[in-house]
Amino acid sequence: MARVAFIGLGNMGGGMAANLAKAGHDVRAFDLSEAALAKAEERGCLRAASAGEAVKDAEAVVTMLPAGRHVRDVYESSVIGIAPTSAILMDCSTIDVATAREEIAKAEAKGYRMVDAPVSGGIAAAEGGTLTFMVGGSPEAFAAAQPFLDRMGKAVIHAGAAGAGQAAKICNNMLLGASMIATCETFVLAQKLGLDPQTFFDISSKASGQNWSMTSYCPVPGVGPETPADRDYQGGFAAALMLKDLRLAMEAAQSADAYTPMGAYAEELYTRFAEKLGGAGKDFSGIIKMIDDSWTPPAGSEAPPPPLGAKV
Ligand code: NAD
Repeated sequence: MARVAFIGLGNMGGGMAANLAKAGHDVRAFDLSEAALAKAEERGCLRAASAGEAVKDAEAVVTMLPAGRHVRDVYESSVIGIAPTSAILMDCSTIDVATAREEIAKAEAKGYRMVDAPVSGGIAAAEGGTLTFMVGGSPEAFAAAQPFLDRMGKAVIHAGAAGAGQAAKICNNMLLGASMIATCETFVLAQKLGLDPQTFFDISSKASGQNWSMTSYCPVPGVGPETPADRDYQGGFAAALMLKDLRLAMEAAQSADAYTPMGAYAEELYTRFAEKLGGAGKDFSGIIKMIDDSWTPPAGSEAPPPPLGAKV
């Protein structure tokens, strides 16, 4: 078993670090939050006083941080040049492709192996060790990272060179965001045309409109398998995180000169739902309530609902 440094013990990292400790690794954990550190300690990790202390004699380093700027800060101030060069570096945060590539290039220039390894699956999958990892990096770095990622996930897939994990993640989530909106508006129209939602589900889930947002994550309560729609859109994948991923996708599309009109409109609609109408904490399928006009913005939301079709 190995000495593993784990930095970023939030909603996702907390469960992931605990799974590495449960597998017998000696996990030195660090977070800026005292509460997160205390919880990690209770769950079998060893507390480190700083990120630098956590990584100083590590064989593996895992980071699970909010965004690109945190990843850049942590790697440049506390990992590169401080961890032994033999350590395999794994950033599991969801960040922009450009920062992922830059940080891997900087680490490699100093003799490290590093992968970007963002995840699919939410807090429950992080707790249960059933995440899917999409990994970017050299074949050697992937081979070194895989045994650690295996302990935290059910699937570990090599997506390609540095940054390919982030590219796969945001492309997948751009498709998910756009297909969820299309599924929501389809159910709203079907109902307005007098179709029973369950009957429409039975037909469309076996016809050419079938898609994951409908058959595995139906935004209509009581239709299909149990989903956040059956819990008033609590839990699941927050609209704020979908918006974050759509913004990363749009940034990447711009830098790659790719035309992504559906992704752009999905970003606009999630901006409206999450930021203007106070839906950030709801599951992303809750956007159906904005589309069917049954959403009541919480008190203090920025503005009354703009008419659909208006630019936000
Ligand atoms: P979170 O905000 O709950 O946790 C992030 C943690 O990082 C916090 O505890 C924070 O204190 C810590 N942190 C920030 N800067 C730090 C620093 N300089 N040093 C040490 N610790 C620092 O976020 P989360 O929900 O755990 O998400 C983490 C990443 O996983 C994000 O990139 C997110 O997009 C991605 N993700 C989240 C989900 C989800 O369902 N929550 C699903 C897939 C991917």
